[in-house]
Amino acid sequence: MIVMKFGGSSVGTGTRIASVANITARTKTQTGTAPVVVVSALSGVTDTLLRAAHAAGASDYQAYAHIRVELQNRHEEAINECISDSERAQALKQEVTGLLDWLETFCQSIATLGELTPRGLDVVSGLGERLSARIVAGAMNDRGIAAEMVEATELIVTNAHSGSAIPLYDLTAAKATKRLLPLIQAGIVPVVTGFIGATAEGIPTTLGRGGSDFSATILGRVLPADEVWIWTDVNGVMTADPRIVPDARTLAEISYAEIAELAFFGAKVLHPKTIQPVVEMGIPLRVLNSFEPDNAGTLVSASSRPEPIIKGITAIRDLSMVTVAGRGMLGVPGIAGRVFSAVARSGASMLMITQSSSEQSICFVIHSKDVDEVVKSVERELELERAHHDVDTVDSQGEVAILAIVGTGATGNPDIARSVFGALASQKVEIVAVAQGASNYNYNLSIVVPQAHTDAAVRAIHSQFGLDRA
Ligand code: ADP
Ligand code: ASP
Ligand code: MG
Repeated sequence: MIVMKFGGSSVGTGTRIASVANITARTKTQTGTAPVVVVSALSGVTDTLLRAAHAAGASDYQAYAHIRVELQNRHEEAINECISDSERAQALKQEVTGLLDWLETFCQSIATLGELTPRGLDVVSGLGERLSARIVAGAMNDRGIAAEMVEATELIVTNAHSGSAIPLYDLTAAKATKRLLPLIQAGIVPVVTGFIGATAEGIPTTLGRGGSDFSATILGRVLPADEVWIWTDVNGVMTADPRIVPDARTLAEISYAEIAELAFFGAKVLHPKTIQPVVEMGIPLRVLNSFEPDNAGTLVSASSRPEPIIKGITAIRDLSMVTVAGRGMLGVPGIAGRVFSAVARSGASMLMITQSSSEQSICFVIHSKDVDEVVKSVERELELERAHHDVDTVDSQGEVAILAIVGTGATGNPDIARSVFGALASQKVEIVAVAQGASNYNYNLSIVVPQAHTDAAVRAIHSQFGLDRA
């Protein structure tokens, strides 16, 4: 059985939703089994819902009332485009109206209280998938494909971490198999809302922006699926972001480890956690283009061909580098551990760490949104050392990006670093810090550069390695 996920642009309009129904029918015929379909919200809808929630939090009644109308029109238009049966279309429009009425009432309460909580934000931002899944299931039924909308709050059990909840696999397996397997056995396609889940107590949560990819692999793992297919708007995983590098090429194959590195360092094509649920069980993942369903896409699996050594380059922006420095740090055991614990206490995650060999400074990179909290937390931890001038500064440098050059079997190859630094020098890109992945097989060279130089740096490295050529 296949679990397949369709992203925002693949369900962006009624016409696109009709293609989703056709692809689903084709998959069902090819495999002889009803696939499980996971859908994102219509493209842009999650952003719009977040705007509504923040407007409500700021007690801006007019703004969210406008947004409600905008969302109603967008979804009704999609229904008109993909549903021919007028009774079915009418019933779906009523469901949309019901959910948007609820949204408006909910926003009203937020506005009255003047407070938007992380929990409230999760409930509002997950509404897009609840709208789209109904329409997608309706479009399938309209074409004679038996389908049923299933809310992921009935399937995916998570912890209570609003905004980036973590799945609890045992509980999820029990619920998902009980609810989905009978549908599949009856030949009915379950159309599941991506992005959302609920705690064991039933409190709605979300898995993080772009999290519908993760929803698909979570379900793929617990059912379990033979393969998970991620349908998007490009031909697969590419050597670089095609919006930055127009001659980026689609990779036929890539390993779990390589895609995990690329996704962690900003390649938006897959959510960074997508691979986690399927790696252990070796469930293959395909990234496919819903606009070109016959294209072979990219196969992500445990092994990939050893050549070429460098597979891709990606960049992650809006970062800050924090430096903790002082002569008194030399040889003092445990400072690094305390600094990292202080960062963890602030709730921020570190993307990269470097330390000078004399132990006089530790640098790490975090998302800029976390920088104030992190610096405060580290300063508090090192209060005594600062008073004694063992630690002189806890400084931060904003507006930096990390470039990640990812591949296989390249560790220890001096030509790679030479080529990368040569490419950066040719563009006069300043190098702020460097780290190299230590694993033998999986290669990642991460370089911190000023954010303004990111695109030029990515293009120069892409062309230096000839990634545009097969
Ligand atoms: P979806 O809505 O289907 O989840 P996303 O917009 O989240 O789609 O992800 C697909 C987009 O990711 C592509 O349109 C492309 O612009 C971008 N992207 C960034 N890096 C890469 C990469 N290395 N390979 C493919 N696409 C990438
Ligand atoms: N709709 C959600 C988002 O925009 C989840 C997803 O598209 O994967 O973040
Ligand atoms: Mg996505």
